[in-house]
Amino acid sequence: MKTLFLLILSFNLNLAFARFERTKSAPSLLNSPLSFDPGMTNLLYGETIEYDVVKVLAGEQDTFSGHRILERRSVAERLQTIQYLEAKLVELGYSPQRHDYKSDATNLWAVLHASSSTNQYVVIGAHFDSVGNAGANDNASGVGVVMSLAKKLTELSGRNKNVLIVFFDEEERGLVGSKNFASFIKTSKFNIHSVHTIDQMAWDKDKDQAIELEKAPADLMSIYQKVKTDRGYPMTLHSSSETATDHTSFRNAGFKAMGLTEEYRNGDTTPCYHSKCDKFDTVDFEYLTNTAKFWSDVIGYIIKL
Ligand SMILES: [Zn+2]
Repeated sequence: MKTLFLLILSFNLNLAFARFERTKSAPSLLNSPLSFDPGMTNLLYGETIEYDVVKVLAGEQDTFSGHRILERRSVAERLQTIQYLEAKLVELGYSPQRHDYKSDATNLWAVLHASSSTNQYVVIGAHFDSVGNAGANDNASGVGVVMSLAKKLTELSGRNKNVLIVFFDEEERGLVGSKNFASFIKTSKFNIHSVHTIDQMAWDKDKDQAIELEKAPADLMSIYQKVKTDRGYPMTLHSSSETATDHTSFRNAGFKAMGLTEEYRNGDTTPCYHSKCDKFDTVDFEYLTNTAKFWSDVIGYIIKL
């Protein structure tokens, strides 16, 4: 009984502390570039879209329809994932569409229309399948960031390009979903400005917030650097020649494409790559949220051009 009382007391104190922390820190999180507050905890990030999405995709919380997704490999689990992402996009005001490129495989996409008249598109995407684990880092984290941008970019006025938001199936089977999506947009003659994909963005053990930009063409690289400098982001942007993820499918189809990831080549990457331990509790939400903020500034800059 005494233990119970102490537990309750400590629980209440924790809640009070959490509320205080939120009130104190939330404005800087939402309105200004990166802030390095060593006192920040993951509690602070518990109200973001990326947190919600990672929680569901990594099997920590049920989907809207009451399913618990433990892996995202079987047809049934991938379908449950698609249904959840569809519902999430609808909640944000989108009209998502399925790209059923095979009877048992589907990409999901949606368009944020420009506020001016244009046929140009910027593509942002992430794969949602996993190798047969919770795939919190690989790649619930990337899906969470793309979904976060789907929200943030709607709040931006003066959009001179459309944004094509896409979640790829079957990356882990050899970039199958993105390959099929690249040929779909090519055949449909979409006028694509550039393609930006994200894969594994949840590990930052050295706490330097660094991001690797994979195969970034010079003009896109200078935009990422310019936004970083202009908005006062302190982290380093590394160049990487890594090709083993979705952006490769688009370059192969003739599009301008690049990728974002944690320090995958630079030695600060999840030790749980393609393992059972790639779970929710390894996700660094401070890193994820800061990356989402930076990336939305970059994509926001591009669509205002
Ligand atoms: Zn991946």
